[in-house]
Amino acid sequence: MKKLFSIFGDPVSHSRSPLMHNSVFKALNYDACYTRTHLLDGTKLKETFFSLGLSGANVTVPHKEAAFNACDEVRGFAKTVGVVNTLVNENGKLIGYNTDADGFMYAIEEFGETKTILILGAGGTAKALASKFLQEGIKVSVINRSEGRLAYFKEIGCKTYSWDEYRASQYDLVVNTTSAGLKDEELPAPQNIIDSVLENTSFVADAIYGKLTPFLKLAREKKITFKDGADMLLGQGVLANELFVNAALKKEDIKKYMSRSFSL
Ligand code: NDP
Repeated sequence: MKKLFSIFGDPVSHSRSPLMHNSVFKALNYDACYTRTHLLDGTKLKETFFSLGLSGANVTVPHKEAAFNACDEVRGFAKTVGVVNTLVNENGKLIGYNTDADGFMYAIEEFGETKTILILGAGGTAKALASKFLQEGIKVSVINRSEGRLAYFKEIGCKTYSWDEYRASQYDLVVNTTSAGLKDEELPAPQNIIDSVLENTSFVADAIYGKLTPFLKLAREKKITFKDGADMLLGQGVLANELFVNAALKKEDIKKYMSRSFSL
């Protein structure tokens, strides 16, 4: 029987996940189809997943924390961070994983050794990345619009700033994990903070892909080496596909098939 997979998000129409996973299914002759589901209410995630008869799913903004709460069991790194981006139907039970952080580590490999990182934003993606960076021995600072969300980061050992508290410091990498610039043309923080941040970093990355955000446009103007979220997307997708297909397939092969979808 054909297996069905989907991505849940709001918005979700921009997502490249269906193209990426379908290109692997096709290359493998795997009888499956990957679609998109526009989900407004995260509390409806589990019932929607099972009513669609899904074998697995990915979850994007703003439902990754809701996805964690929806799971019958959470495995691996997702347990550390309380954030789930990959769901697998295992005999009628919803199993949650997080493949975002390892996907991002893969994406920044080409920047060389990274010792200090400033994260803009304090949502689900920021949580996953901050925990991973700390595990890797990287010093992590976090700045966010709402102060309330910073407590978690302070607790795990990050330096934290609200917009009012921000003081300039030097970083190897600054990464935008806010959704500012996804549906709008906003910067992730007020212009004076962003200007200061960009003057004090060697590299810049944005989790958003498929468009040059206002943040990346500024980095380009200032001639800072940057990358958008496409490689992170590819990395998390390869790891998610491994969980979906559960075949003895090499990561490099999944990556090769998925990369093809980026040129479509
Ligand atoms: P969440 O909803 O969990 O968090 C969003 C964060 O963005 C919060 O810190 C929020 O701040 C901040 N934010 C939202 N709007 C603004 C704004 N206008 N100005 C400043 N801050 C803002 O989202 P996720 O962590 O799930 O996703 C974040 C982004 O990362 C999305 O754009 C998503 O598409 C992208 N992403 C890309 C991936 C990839 O593979 N390339 C993988 C995962 C995510 P506050 O707390 O104040 O509300």
